[in-house]
Amino acid sequence: MPELPEVETVKRTLNQLIKGKYIDHVTVNLPRIIQRPDDVDAFAFMLKGHTIEGVERRGKFLRILLDGLVLVSHLRMEGRYGLYRKDEPVEKHTHVIFHFSDGTELRYKDVRQFGTMHLFAPGEEFNHPPLSKLGYEPLDDTLTPDTFKEVIGSKKTKIKAVLLNQAYVVGIGNIYVDESLFRAGIHPEIPANKLGDDELSRLYHSIVATLSEAVEAGGASIKSYVNGQGEMGMFQHSLKIYGRKDEPCYGCGGPVFKTVVGGRGTHYCPSCQPDRK
Ligand SMILES: [Zn+2]
Repeated sequence: MPELPEVETVKRTLNQLIKGKYIDHVTVNLPRIIQRPDDVDAFAFMLKGHTIEGVERRGKFLRILLDGLVLVSHLRMEGRYGLYRKDEPVEKHTHVIFHFSDGTELRYKDVRQFGTMHLFAPGEEFNHPPLSKLGYEPLDDTLTPDTFKEVIGSKKTKIKAVLLNQAYVVGIGNIYVDESLFRAGIHPEIPANKLGDDELSRLYHSIVATLSEAVEAGGASIKSYVNGQGEMGMFQHSLKIYGRKDEPCYGCGGPVFKTVVGGRGTHYCPSCQPDRK
């Protein structure tokens, strides 16, 4: 699933590709992608004749800003956007097509069909699901080390589960949680409220550094992530712990362990990230 760095990369790419384009009409081939409004025809009708003014990100969601509308889009497991000329053949699993007046099309493809789109009046999107319950943006000034301690450090559940919960801090998923915990030397199963101030501070800085580096590198591409121009992200080469089961730890040379925390496959090094006994 794309996490903050991948969605940020898609956002930046889409800003280069579709800003200023005028929507002539919209085709929806798979109604379940459209979550708001209920009526797919209304969705297409509302978007007709609007111009794309830019693309923003909130957590793992894209906010496609139009004149008088905001389209909130979540790629979930495997959703992808691509810009095509209208004469190019439409690939399988293309569920939504934004036909532009200049003869190009933004196509939304999603093999797993888990992606969602919600349409709102500008500003309204923050008061309704899926954006209304989201926590802090980790790369914004609003999340300081002190705020992080306050929000995360009081929770009684395992630190990995707390970090995955988008109601506290957004944008970090399975890959970057494992990377950040390894970088901070913290075991994924320690309850968050058992972490000391120095550990929480280290974790905060690890998250910010890990995400910033990944954004810089254009997002990870563990499995199927491709940015809006069809370029694969480059960060997967830099993953230090995720996906490295039984390989030597970069910190101590011992084997990387894999376990399950909160139902998610979790990579860690038992010596560099000792459990709290
Ligand atoms: Zn190690």
